[in-house]
Amino acid sequence: MQPVRRLLAKTVVRPTLAPDPGMGDFAGRGRVTDVFIALGANLGDAAQTLRDAVAAVGRLPHTRVVKTSSLYRTAPVDSSGPDYLNAVLQMETALPAPVLLQALQEIEAAAGRERPYRNAPRTLDLDILLYGSGQIDSPHLQVPHPRMAQRAFVLEPLAEIAPERVSPAQREAVAGQRIERLESILLS
Ligand code: AMP
Repeated sequence: MQPVRRLLAKTVVRPTLAPDPGMGDFAGRGRVTDVFIALGANLGDAAQTLRDAVAAVGRLPHTRVVKTSSLYRTAPVDSSGPDYLNAVLQMETALPAPVLLQALQEIEAAAGRERPYRNAPRTLDLDILLYGSGQIDSPHLQVPHPRMAQRAFVLEPLAEIAPERVSPAQREAVAGQRIERLESILLS
């Protein structure tokens, strides 16, 4: 088993349900919220890392993965290194948004994610795109993700699993970005 895979397979993140004091009680503990997460990787066995990340998200408490997109091969945007593999997943969770962010960062860390400099190549990147209809603007978390509308690697997989969330004009705006849907490589 690859080292990243072994680490992620063992990762059981157990976040507390205590909300970040800076966020107040925005997320409404106990309520189930429909959430979209963007996944990306461009180091190591990226496809396997993303599969393991979906499984790790599915093991979070009070959380259920509802749907996953295909895998997409994309050119790095605001980043460097080899092409990325990207995907989007839809989940239902009762975790408050800041707790979810922390749990996602623990999954990234278990995949060996390091942050040597901004936008460095990465073994795993997990971003919260949408948290219900919530709008969050705290120092550590902005939702909807502020750059999602500029990125084909987010909009295309999101449109695949939730077409009502992406307008034709949004897709048109990122049409120049290189992106290829990989129908032969399964995410889950
Ligand atoms: P990245 O290098 O893309 O992993 O950026 C991670 C940083 O972005 C973390 O410090 C987060 O606190 C911050 N951040 C802000 N909004 C979000 C979001 N919606 N999803 C994930 N990270 C976010």
